[in-house]
Amino acid sequence: MKINKVVVIGSGTMGSGIAAQLCNANVPVTLLDLSTEISEKARERILKSRPPLLIDKSKINNINVGNINDDFNIVKEADWVVEAVVERIDIKHNIYEKIFNERKPGAIVSSNTSSIPIKVLSEKLNADQKKDFCITHFFNPVRYMDLLEIVKSENNDLNKINDLKNFCEKDLGKGALICNDTPGFLGNRIGVFAMQVAMTEAFRMKLTIEEADAVFGRPMGIPKTGVFGLYDLIGIDLMADVLKSFIKELPKEDVFQEVAKEIPLVKKLIETGYTGRKGKGGFYRINKSENKKVLEGINLETGEYSVSKKFNLGSEKMDILSLINRKDKYGEYSWSVISKIIKYASSLVPKITDKFNDIDEAMRLGFNWTKGPFEILQDIGVKNFFDRIDSFENNKFLENLNKTKDENFYGQRQLYTELETLGKIKPKAIKKDKNNSAEIYRFDDFNIVEFTTKANALDYDSMDSLKNATDKPLIIINEAMQFSAGVNLSYTMDFANKGDFKSIEKFVKYFQDTCKHLKYSKYPVVSAPSGLALGGGFEVLCQSNFVVSHTNIVVGLVETLVGLIPAGGGCKEMLWRWSQSDEAKNDPDFAPLKVFDIIGYAKTATSPIEAEPLKYLMPEDKKIMSRNSLLSISKEVLENNKNFSPPEECKFKLSGNVVYEKMIKLLEKLYNDKIILDHGMEVGKELARVLSGGDTDLEKTVTEDDLYKLELSAFMKLIETQKTQDRIKHTLTTGKPLVN
Ligand code: NAD
Repeated sequence: MKINKVVVIGSGTMGSGIAAQLCNANVPVTLLDLSTEISEKARERILKSRPPLLIDKSKINNINVGNINDDFNIVKEADWVVEAVVERIDIKHNIYEKIFNERKPGAIVSSNTSSIPIKVLSEKLNADQKKDFCITHFFNPVRYMDLLEIVKSENNDLNKINDLKNFCEKDLGKGALICNDTPGFLGNRIGVFAMQVAMTEAFRMKLTIEEADAVFGRPMGIPKTGVFGLYDLIGIDLMADVLKSFIKELPKEDVFQEVAKEIPLVKKLIETGYTGRKGKGGFYRINKSENKKVLEGINLETGEYSVSKKFNLGSEKMDILSLINRKDKYGEYSWSVISKIIKYASSLVPKITDKFNDIDEAMRLGFNWTKGPFEILQDIGVKNFFDRIDSFENNKFLENLNKTKDENFYGQRQLYTELETLGKIKPKAIKKDKNNSAEIYRFDDFNIVEFTTKANALDYDSMDSLKNATDKPLIIINEAMQFSAGVNLSYTMDFANKGDFKSIEKFVKYFQDTCKHLKYSKYPVVSAPSGLALGGGFEVLCQSNFVVSHTNIVVGLVETLVGLIPAGGGCKEMLWRWSQSDEAKNDPDFAPLKVFDIIGYAKTATSPIEAEPLKYLMPEDKKIMSRNSLLSISKEVLENNKNFSPPEECKFKLSGNVVYEKMIKLLEKLYNDKIILDHGMEVGKELARVLSGGDTDLEKTVTEDDLYKLELSAFMKLIETQKTQDRIKHTLTTGKPLVN
């Protein structure tokens, strides 16, 4: 089965997201709704979406629109028809009748339902039609959420289901899990249960929402929104509907029923319009006080709001074991929550799936957990878990594990895919080296470095790992959400606060030396980014010899936003890339001015296609839809470059003061128009000094080392200013840079 053309019916949140992802994969798609006007609007929404659903706006031309009355005959041409209309069985049944009257023989038909069983959806279909009908449950937003659950029935032709899985995996880049027809499938069954446990336990133990979110968040490998933040994000009313459906579908004795019961405070929030971020607020709300926006949190006992104070558990890097071993209410809460989740997830094996590994993957792909319940169980330690747990009757999985006490029962990650992924290959390393910020996995003919800090922010240890791993070809890749959000600013500020600028200088110099080493060492270096590759993260990437980039990336040099300039070779490398362009051959100032504009405005790109015109990525860099393929393609790159020799060092001709003056003119205009203020002017001047090559002219040659020196000196001047330190502090406390 080849999928060359797709029709999506229903152009709401999910239909438009699915259409956009097909577009990204260059598959022509037609989006049909009740009227063409509605599907036209969906196209407009796709174009305006933030974060963008399209990797390139021009791809919108892959989407045709129409309505189900005049344009339904397009279904005849489709290899796959996806139904994504409202969650109403009568409407869905009508649509299937129409589809099966029109579809070409053998074309696959799927529903995006999140809660209606396949048995009910297909009850009016004949045996032949049932063979080609399944559920494809995408998550919102489709481009960014990796999980796709393909729910099969006993009637399906399994070869066809596998073909669909392969297409969704390789072409659409999804982590596709094949599931049975059970309520909530895998992701929502465990994910929503986990949220409900975290919430009901917070009520029971009288925790504040900030405390609960601080525990049921990063320390447990769960996104920082925690539980109440996530509730607000999803929509409290929508979650109530999801719970109602679980209550209806699940047997009375299912443990889920206990945690799905209506909570009076939640009911009141929905009734008063506090449905979350889309409503007046939810568990958190933004209130205006003296013209300032203030974040407030609800008191779970009284329902009153007060100023929300971020709760600090006392340690940045806390693993699950130290968390559950704490002798305070947070230790008790975390154990109570995680043990209930592990018990529930394991009680469903083999009922909802015989592969416990798939449950973990559903949590990682669909809920962005770093580890699923079973891997967490292994981290806690099997013996430790059974020493602490009270009871686990009717739980075959735990009964067996209690017998074998196999501490290494987990095995590999990502068994759902045939691709050789990082998760699968890590346990096979012949040697592992580890420091506080990264791990090196050593194999016979290559090494892998995986950064391991929060958002993979870079520090001295991250650089040390890179440097120590270049004794063989090297792949820099990771399983976390971000490749690297840049240099660790709080690490830098710790020195600045003590007035220890010498240590900052030493770090930046080491950062530069490492990047230079990556570029010119004997063996090739491949960076394989996904997610953020900003600032220092981008500098590592652009000074690697090869790049294999996921299509979901955000790249750029954003240092000016915090009053700094790129000093790990970012200015130098961008200058080199732009000085190779045709325009630069006729105008020696073209490249410096272009890079001044890009770095000065801290331009970012949200896909490889946006990144190329800025030269953040180059045409020869590989751009890949499927994140799971990054490792194997990186290995292929190494394989194809067995005779690699490092590049020649770059030499620059820069006009020095001539182009510097041009840049100052540009800055003065911005200053006079009040687009930048005094400090912006200062940052701009330092950037201009670097990009103009300093004290040089077109007769002289500027080396890479000269540019590294200029970067370092500009960086040090700026980090010593109070204004830059204030900007960094603001970014660290609010998570956002200061405007102006
Ligand atoms: P939505 O309300 O945003 O969009 C539904 C669309 O269907 C609307 O544009 C509506 O005009 C159209 N529609 C209604 N009747 C139609 C008909 N007879 N013919 C053609 N179009 C018709 O809904 P959504 O959130 O996109 O959900 C769609 C499906 O996906 C539902 O089954 C839902 O359960 C499921 N789902 C939703 C999410 C989510 O996060 N929103 C996630 C996973 C699955």
